[in-house]
This record gives sequence, C-alpha cells and structure tokens, in this order.
Amino acid sequence: MPAPAMTENSTLPILFAPDKRLRLTARPIGDADGDMVRALAPKMLATMYAAPGIGLAAPQIGEGLRLIVLDIQPEEKPEPLVLVNPEIIAESAEAATREEGCLSLPGQYADVTRPARVKLRYLDLMGTKREIEGDGLLSACLQHEIDHLDGVLFVDHLSALKRNMILRKLAKDLKSQQRG
Ligand SMILES: [Zn+2]
Repeated sequence: MPAPAMTENSTLPILFAPDKRLRLTARPIGDADGDMVRALAPKMLATMYAAPGIGLAAPQIGEGLRLIVLDIQPEEKPEPLVLVNPEIIAESAEAATREEGCLSLPGQYADVTRPARVKLRYLDLMGTKREIEGDGLLSACLQHEIDHLDGVLFVDHLSALKRNMILRKLAKDLKSQQRG
C-alpha cells in the first residue's frame, strides 16, 4: 500500500498515559469491520509518520481494535506495514535489550528486555493470512505494538520504581507543556 498523503487533517489525536483507554484489551477485527479498518489504517499511518513514530496501535488513537501499523525505516524508503489481528506464534529463548519510547509516553525512554526474535501471524488489509518474522528493531517494535492491544505499555516491563518514575515525569512534562 502506498504511503498516505501526510496532510495535517488526516492525522488523529494520540492518547497519552495514564489515559484508561490505553489499558483496555482490544477486540479482534471481523469481516464486518473491513471497510472501517481500510479507512482507519491510512489515517493511522499518517498519524504515525507525522508524530513522527515507527509504530502505532489502534488503542493509542482510542480505537479498541486489534490493528497496528509500523514502518521501522521511515527516513529511508517508506515500508508501511498494516497488521490486522496480529498474533505472536513463536519467540526466541534468547532475549535482547533495546531502548524504547512510545508516542503515548512522549519524551520518555527506557531499556526494555524482550525475546530477541519473534514470528507473527496476521491478516493484511485484504484479509489475506500472512506471517512476518524479525529480530532487532523490527522484533522490539512488533512486540511493543502488540502489547498495546492488550493494554500493556513498555513501562510495564520495568520495575515498579522505574515505571512510577517515568509516569511521574511524563505527567510533569505534559503539565508544563499545557502551561507553556
Ligand atoms: Zn507505544
């Protein structure tokens, strides 16, 4: 699918933690959702590119659907991916640690340890069954976005102490942004 036009009015507002909608479990997408999802996915991609970000899950824009978009190399040749009902079907025993951030926790970063390699099953926008396998940044991004579908944020992989520090810092940052 071609990258959508990045016009201002095609982007959607992104929810920030601790918005409760980020904590809900998203529902699977069915046949009846096809048209709605095909309309939503380009808007999510436009929102992600404009942010800018490399991944966005539907709950982050307030839609409780199992839908994620990503592009881990937007600076180079755009390679947008849209994953409907993604499911991890295999993961490596080996773990990898990478610094992660999140469009719903703007400006906050922390090292997160996850399985180094994952394999996913998903549907594309035409309803075709597909699989994707990745390591490195792609693996971390896929796992991070799928977490969003289950109400999980990257800070949930950290100690309670570290998580609370980040959430407090975010609340402070967001408050000072509102003021000035
Ligand atoms: Zn995120």
